[in-house]
Amino acid sequence: MRLRDDLLHILAPALCPGCDQLLMPTEHGYCRSCRASLSPAPFPRDLFTELLHHFSDDHLAISALGALYLFEQDSPVQHLIHALKYHGCYDVGIELGKELGATIKMFPEFDGVDAIIPVPLHRARRRERGYNQAEAIAEGVADAFSVEILADRLYRSRHTISQTTLNAKERQRNVQNAFAAHDHSLVGRTILLCDDVCTTGATLNICADRLLSAGAKRVVAAAVAKDLVQNPNAVQQQISQPFFP
Ligand SMILES: [Zn+2]
Repeated sequence: MRLRDDLLHILAPALCPGCDQLLMPTEHGYCRSCRASLSPAPFPRDLFTELLHHFSDDHLAISALGALYLFEQDSPVQHLIHALKYHGCYDVGIELGKELGATIKMFPEFDGVDAIIPVPLHRARRRERGYNQAEAIAEGVADAFSVEILADRLYRSRHTISQTTLNAKERQRNVQNAFAAHDHSLVGRTILLCDDVCTTGATLNICADRLLSAGAKRVVAAAVAKDLVQNPNAVQQQISQPFFP
């Protein structure tokens, strides 16, 4: 296996999608230098406090939120997510998912997770892309937690417009009624929802709401990157310390 990997590296050297530098044979998905340079996301308790700015208590279906990196424009994390979504770099998603899983597992908010569910894409978008990027991330996270993925229990019942130009309230309205879940196997389960980027949490929250309605006991959520663009001051004031030294 090692010899095969070395030969492949010589014949078809892979580039890191985060920085376009050559990947070493021992590096998977993205390079060590990108891993070291990316800004860590705030602690789950701080991310949860930020969520409370966007939802009233009785509308918040997520019990905890974890993230790996801060989303920054023109940074390696944006390039990595772009490569995962638009350039077929499924393995980058798995590596990001492994890192995300290993990181959030350290926090008690994620104790008791017994299944992973990726945020679904609409059928038409999935057909166009060939895969759902959140499933790649879920694969890595499930590996870190050693639990199963329940990919088909939650589905997108309605196509929605892009959330990028919408404010927090508009995002919540846009995804209302966009998802459905119904499966007896969800009853009593603690589900970890996974996605690539979380901004206000509108999509994760409506998915969590549907899973709770279908019988899940508790739903926690995690995203590779947390985008603070919509409300930059809300979380920066709350950050106590980063995940890593
Ligand atoms: Zn890199």
